[in-house]
Amino acid sequence: MARVTGVSWTRSTFNPWIGCTKAGPGCDRCYAEAQDARFYHGAHWGPGAPRMLTSDRYWMHPLRWNREALKSDEFWPVFCASQADVFDNEVPEEWRNRLWELIKATPALTWQLVTKRIGNVPTMLPADWGRGYGNVWLIATVVNQKEALRDIPKLKSLSAVVRGLSVEPMLDRMDLLVPDLRHENRLIDGIDWVIVGGESRQGAASARSFELSWGQSLLD
Ligand code: SF4
Repeated sequence: MARVTGVSWTRSTFNPWIGCTKAGPGCDRCYAEAQDARFYHGAHWGPGAPRMLTSDRYWMHPLRWNREALKSDEFWPVFCASQADVFDNEVPEEWRNRLWELIKATPALTWQLVTKRIGNVPTMLPADWGRGYGNVWLIATVVNQKEALRDIPKLKSLSAVVRGLSVEPMLDRMDLLVPDLRHENRLIDGIDWVIVGGESRQGAASARSFELSWGQSLLD
């Protein structure tokens, strides 16, 4: 929840709420779940667990970043969310609506909405989304070839000024040059931005393996 984050591909992180349910193998060693277990006894994780809206004061931060970005004219990306999923179907719709209002009130920020639930997005976008808000990137997380084949075509069916992929943690080799049968092109066509990385170590567990050649092949 930081103004300046250690995540190399963004500048700030914002969590409109905290809590989630695991949605695939990429979630197996979720850092945010471990944080919730440590600070809240795991009260906000899993099916049926109430999510926790962050404070009004915290919600003021993006408005301040927006003012600073306007003054400095700097590119100011905001990663949303690192401890939740914007398109979690267990979140009250009014919370998401409040987030859309905040995003519209901060046009100098670039909102990077990262989700493991790209299939939920079409029914959760705001009514005035149109071709996509000018300051929102839609980013789907895919961690292996099976998820890439399933989820990238869904992402490409959505309108957004930038459509991106988060391949983190990358769990296997991935080929994005294979056909996308839904769009009659290749999986990578229509994707504007890709980040890739391996898994971090969590507690006593060792990280799952990542081969540099997997990342290199994506880059190539
Ligand atoms: S979607 Fe993200 S926050 Fe939710 S369980 Fe998976 S890794 Fe954790």
